[in-house]
Amino acid sequence: MGLFDSLFKPVWMNEKNEDKALRVIEKETDQTKLAEIVQNAPILNVRIAAIKRVTDQTFVANVAKNSNDFEMRIAAIEKVTDQSMIVDIIKDYKSGELGSVNNEQKLMDKHVKMLEKLTDNNLLVDIAKNGKNHRIRAEAADEAIKELNDQELLFDFAIAGNYYVRYRAAEKLIDQSVAQDIFVDIAKNCDSRDLEKKAIDKVTLQTSLADIAKNAKAENACRYAVEKLICQPLLADVAKNTESYLVGNDALKKLTDRALLADAASNAKNEDTRRETTRIIDPQRYQEMLDERKKKQAACKHSWKFKFTSHERNNEDFDLYYDEYECIFCGKYESRYVPNGEMMKR
Ligand SMILES: [Zn+2]
Repeated sequence: MGLFDSLFKPVWMNEKNEDKALRVIEKETDQTKLAEIVQNAPILNVRIAAIKRVTDQTFVANVAKNSNDFEMRIAAIEKVTDQSMIVDIIKDYKSGELGSVNNEQKLMDKHVKMLEKLTDNNLLVDIAKNGKNHRIRAEAADEAIKELNDQELLFDFAIAGNYYVRYRAAEKLIDQSVAQDIFVDIAKNCDSRDLEKKAIDKVTLQTSLADIAKNAKAENACRYAVEKLICQPLLADVAKNTESYLVGNDALKKLTDRALLADAASNAKNEDTRRETTRIIDPQRYQEMLDERKKKQAACKHSWKFKFTSHERNNEDFDLYYDEYECIFCGKYESRYVPNGEMMKR
């Protein structure tokens, strides 16, 4: 760049004179000039100062959506007041475009905060349904549901999408049988322990609780459902059909009906549950079973099958590794210390 060019270079183009540039911008009202500064000034603070003085909504909305610099986007977002442009910015936001987790988080929070600027609930519903980012959709739905009584829309939110939003929507459904189905679905499938519990607390039918106890993905949800079960035949059903030893035990603890217990002792799917039931109803038979097993194991010429590797931490804070084997004939377990297993520590 020659001497002539630099003489006519505007002060905001100078990379070394930030203070002077900021003073000039403070007095600048020409929107075209301000837009030019936003696009071309080499110093970030100068660009930010300029965008703060731009009033053209289309221009600030464009920077808010498309700038590669997250600080520019945040400054621009604050200038947008037009409701339909706010909706457009929030809906279009995808996250993960800036490559920095920290900046992306700040930008996400800013977009979520922008939802508060919306005065019409229909706009929140629009974002909740059509936003590109799942967290944005969930936050908008959460906000929209507060003021929402339209049963058809609530149903839409309740049947698909974010589990927390589905829960909130189901709470406002007038049709209780639909709401119950949704609470059961959430209890069985969501992966949040708190939400599982909340959903189970809403479930009123004992048969539904038994369904959750047998079929929920999370063992904690199964166990919490058993806590709420009082119907004896259903408790027996859970004990007999659960794959989980812990859930089976929980159900047995609440089962007092002798006939149902006797049935579970012979017919439970899970061997541990059958044994535990026998211990409760027939301690003598249980002792015999243990003795028989011991005898069988003592006489067995074991054939070991590797099951998994376990580890425990010793006093010196070393992880000790064991390979666990099970005999395919008698079911006996054996742990074998893995020499130098500490080396496996990652
Ligand atoms: Zn064996």
